[in-house]
Amino acid sequence: MPRESKADLKKRTAGIIAALKKRYPHARTALNHSDPLELLVATMLSAQCTDERVNLVTRELFAKYKSAKDYAGAVQEQFEQEIKSTGFYHNKAKSIRAAAARIVEDFGGEVPDNMEALLTLPGVARKTANVVLGDAFGKQEGIVVDTHVIRLTGRLKLTRFKNNQGDRIEKDLLELVPRKDWTLFAHMLIHHGRQTCTARKPDCPGCLINKLCPWAGKV
Ligand code: SF4
Repeated sequence: MPRESKADLKKRTAGIIAALKKRYPHARTALNHSDPLELLVATMLSAQCTDERVNLVTRELFAKYKSAKDYAGAVQEQFEQEIKSTGFYHNKAKSIRAAAARIVEDFGGEVPDNMEALLTLPGVARKTANVVLGDAFGKQEGIVVDTHVIRLTGRLKLTRFKNNQGDRIEKDLLELVPRKDWTLFAHMLIHHGRQTCTARKPDCPGCLINKLCPWAGKV
C-alpha cells in the first residue's frame, strides 16, 4: 500500500469520526461519578482494572469519603482494604491519599481544572488528567490514550507509535482530530474497541469503519 499523505490521512480520520459519531454520539466514561474528585479517584482506581469493578468499589467509597480532606485523612491500611479488589491497592491507596493531600494543601480542597496543576498531583499522569478535564470539566485539553485507543489507532494506522508510547500517540492524534472532538473521540474508540474491534476477535465484517481501516489482519 502506498504511503498515505497527511491530507489523505486527515480526510480518512474525518470519515472515521463521522461514522463513529453516528453509532456512539453520546459516548462517555463508564466510571460512575458526580464531581471532579470522584472522577479523579475512580480513574486512579481504574488502572489495570475493569470499570465495572471500579464502580462496585466506588459505590461504598463515595458514600464514606466526601472530600479531598477525607481521602487525605484516610488510614493507609484501612483504605487499602476498601479498594483491594481493584488490584495494585497498596500503590493506588498511597497515590490517592497523596493526591488528595496535595489538593488540600495547594488547591484549597478543589480538584484543579487545568493540565499543568493536575500533573503536579502524585500518581496523576496525562491519561488521568485528560479523563478529568474532558469528562468532569468539559475541557478539550487532550485525548485519553488507553489500551483500546492504542489498539484501534494502531490498527487504523492513525499513528505508528505503540503501547508504551502514549504521549507520542496522543500527539499524533491531536494533529488529526479536531479539538472539539478530542474527548468524544477517545470514548468512541473505547466503545468501539469493547463492542466490535476487540483485542482477540475483532468483528471486521460487521465493523462500521471497515472501509476506512487498512489493518492487514482485517478479515
Ligand atoms: S475493520 Fe476490523 S480492525 Fe479495522 S477497526 Fe473495524 S474491527 Fe477493527
